[in-house]
Amino acid sequence: MPRVYSRSEHNISRSLVSENALKVLYRLKKAGFEAYLVGGCVRDLLLGREPKDFDVVTNAHPEQIRSVFRNCRLIGRRFRLAHVHFGQEIIEVATFRALQGEEEHSERVLENGRILRDNAYGSIEEDAFRRDFTVNALYYNISDFSVVDFVGGMDDHKASMMRLIGDPEQRYREDPVRMLRAIRFAVKLGFVIHQESAEPMLRLAGLLREIPSARLFDEVMKLLLSGYAVQTFEQLRHFNLFAALFPDTERCLSREPEGFPLIFLAKSLERTDSRIAENKPVAPYFLFAALLWEPVRARAQKLIDSGMNSIQAYQEAGNEIITRQLRHTALPKSIGLPVREVWSLQPRFEMTQGGRPFRLLGHPRFRAAYDFMVLRAETGEADPELADWWTRFQTATEAEQKSMIRSGSRSTGRTRTRKRRIRNKASKNAPPA
Ligand code: ATP
Ligand code: MG
Repeated sequence: MPRVYSRSEHNISRSLVSENALKVLYRLKKAGFEAYLVGGCVRDLLLGREPKDFDVVTNAHPEQIRSVFRNCRLIGRRFRLAHVHFGQEIIEVATFRALQGEEEHSERVLENGRILRDNAYGSIEEDAFRRDFTVNALYYNISDFSVVDFVGGMDDHKASMMRLIGDPEQRYREDPVRMLRAIRFAVKLGFVIHQESAEPMLRLAGLLREIPSARLFDEVMKLLLSGYAVQTFEQLRHFNLFAALFPDTERCLSREPEGFPLIFLAKSLERTDSRIAENKPVAPYFLFAALLWEPVRARAQKLIDSGMNSIQAYQEAGNEIITRQLRHTALPKSIGLPVREVWSLQPRFEMTQGGRPFRLLGHPRFRAAYDFMVLRAETGEADPELADWWTRFQTATEAEQKSMIRSGSRSTGRTRTRKRRIRNKASKNAPPA
């Protein structure tokens, strides 16, 4: 039996619920169905936070949901869901779902190709137990404004605890992405992962390699664009999950545990977080460029050492590293292309003579590549004087620019040569990539 928390026993305020979600709930109720908010929105409402979207569940079957709403589309082949459209906002309405995976177990009863009965649908209780974390399985009932809890989610919520429903190892094996979700929610909400839910992660992190790369790309975006990328990154590394997502980068980081690569990456993530905090846009390609930079830089250096010119070396290294990364996370073209551009423009910043600086300035990806180079300089991996030169060069008048080029006014950094020497020494002692 569920524990039911009446309206006076919880603090969910309807003023934080979207009007459209309320409309959907009331319409379903009026048509004689049960209707609940569930999942992340209930979890966030209990914290007094405004949820980013609202998920509704009901005992109405998809066809019945459609008959209640005019502005409704059914989506999904394996498990049908209803999308109720209100201009920009879509409220997702799902039917209570049974525990068993619908592919293996459901017997669909078909007549002339139409589904008459589909055992993928279940009771509210079954629906609760197939969810991932207890705090994600709370139901806000529109008929009496109570919260219905089958899994002890309210107690865990009060204790700020992320706890898997059921046997943790089994639940991670069923869907290894739950490990990433545990970290995303724990960091975002300031919750701790229950010891029994945390324990299998180190052991099972490698299972992520079996997940389709497109799904992992989506998860990585959610993880890094949550506004808490710095902490998320630390937690991912702590549980070995980062190594499953970005193995080339992890190899570089563990080789130089306190070196430039980590400082650079931490700084890029910090910057992402503060931009999100200020409501400024962040370019996902910039993040990916930063995440994979050290493997690219190291590979390019090897190619340069073996005689390739630097521009070619960065292009070649970029292609190699992206190809390797695609086995782990997909990268849509809209990200892969600019990532490569940002990288391959890096060696061009060194070329401050003749017409080259003007050509670089006119490159459509100049701005991002420049920001990237400044970040490298700030973290000690590129020459700060070079960064400074480019900062001045951009805003200088034409006459000043010409004189900057003629005079070679950049005191071609001793710092840079020295750092590079240190680097080379370090990489000689390191095991080969
Ligand atoms: P947010 O939308 O804030 O990121 P959320 O908890 O709503 O968080 P969704 O991915 O929107 O996350 O999923 C909605 C709900 O569906 C979850 O709260 C959970 O109950 C269930 N769910 C989602 N993914 C899984 C999964 N991999 N395994 C089990 N249940 C899941
Ligand atoms: Mg959600």
